[in-house]
Amino acid sequence: MKALVKKHPGIGLSIENIPVPPCLDHEVLIKPRKTSLCGTDLHIYKWDAWAQKNIVTPMVIGHEFMGDIVEIGKNVKDVKVGDRVSGEGHITCGQCPPCRRGQRHLCMKTLGLGIHRHGCFAEYFTLPAENVFKLPDSIPDDVAAIFDPYGNAVHTALSFNLTGEDVLITGAGPIGIMAAAIARKAGAHTVVVTDRNPYRLILAHQFGATHCVDITHNSLEETMEKAGIHHGFTVGLEMSGHPQALNIQLEKAQNGAHIALLGILPPGCAIDWDLVIFKMLTLKGIYGREIFATWHQMTHLIESGLDLKPLITHRLKVEDFEKGFEAMSAGQSGKVILNW
Ligand code: NAD
Ligand code: ZN
Repeated sequence: MKALVKKHPGIGLSIENIPVPPCLDHEVLIKPRKTSLCGTDLHIYKWDAWAQKNIVTPMVIGHEFMGDIVEIGKNVKDVKVGDRVSGEGHITCGQCPPCRRGQRHLCMKTLGLGIHRHGCFAEYFTLPAENVFKLPDSIPDDVAAIFDPYGNAVHTALSFNLTGEDVLITGAGPIGIMAAAIARKAGAHTVVVTDRNPYRLILAHQFGATHCVDITHNSLEETMEKAGIHHGFTVGLEMSGHPQALNIQLEKAQNGAHIALLGILPPGCAIDWDLVIFKMLTLKGIYGREIFATWHQMTHLIESGLDLKPLITHRLKVEDFEKGFEAMSAGQSGKVILNW
């Protein structure tokens, strides 16, 4: 079968012909229809320090997908061949204290699809049946293909009450843009989004951000004044992974504000702890999605009118994967879908 593989350490990826993986007793075999490129895949493509530390080659990459179940293991009961599915790419151990408390998103031995085990950028791949999410007909294929990052946005945005709040989102990547739409739908008073990339700020505006600030040219303080935010933001969503953005979140927070941190910050990122302590801020780290509470919220938000389709800016054949990574590297993309 065809698969997109990191074959050796170094820059790039290649399409290889490899055997269809065996489906174990507790697993299902999935044939993806559509997959989507994540920033993580770009890190692996570029073979940066994170990828070098985390990826053992050869590895089939990819974790954002939707497709059909084509085979089930002999212990699998709740899903069947022909089911149209997406799935949770965090594979949890079931044995650690958080797993045993029923909090799979806090698993201490989480393995990532397409990072620690072969991923979904292949004609067929396996997944534990307990990770499968059956898709209702209400979710279009394209949208289902980006359920994984959409879940990051929902998990982060809905970590704190947003109704009537003034929300600052730093970073208008695909996840920040989706979070803006979710915050508006949840009834936020203002949703201010910052980035340095005009292309993405336009998308954020289309998705319901009340104010977009290009921090290279415009002042956040002026925007806050115009928006009537005189005492700081009550909720922050850090979605850039940039230390400067985190520091802006802390500086612009109202006393007692809640800030959720999704963006992955570089090692040694420094903050002014006085801001956290004397403003009595609450910071919450976010990893992945709540399994499966977030997935149900995701589905219901779409069924109640949230439209993510305009975020999909590229639809490519798998063979054209390089074009997708180029667009992402240049910051000239929303979500990039690869059709199988
Ligand atoms: P992305 O890289 O596409 O978007 C990040 C955006 O932040 C870019 O548009 C960039 O221009 C912008 N940015 C850079 N510096 C900034 C600054 N100083 N102020 C404001 N904006 C700035 O990423 P994404 O796919 O949307 O993901 C968002 C972040 O979340 C990334 O850091 C990613 O690694 C991380 N992530 C975390 C998890 C998790 O489970 N914790 C899951 C997925 C992604
Ligand atoms: Zn566990």
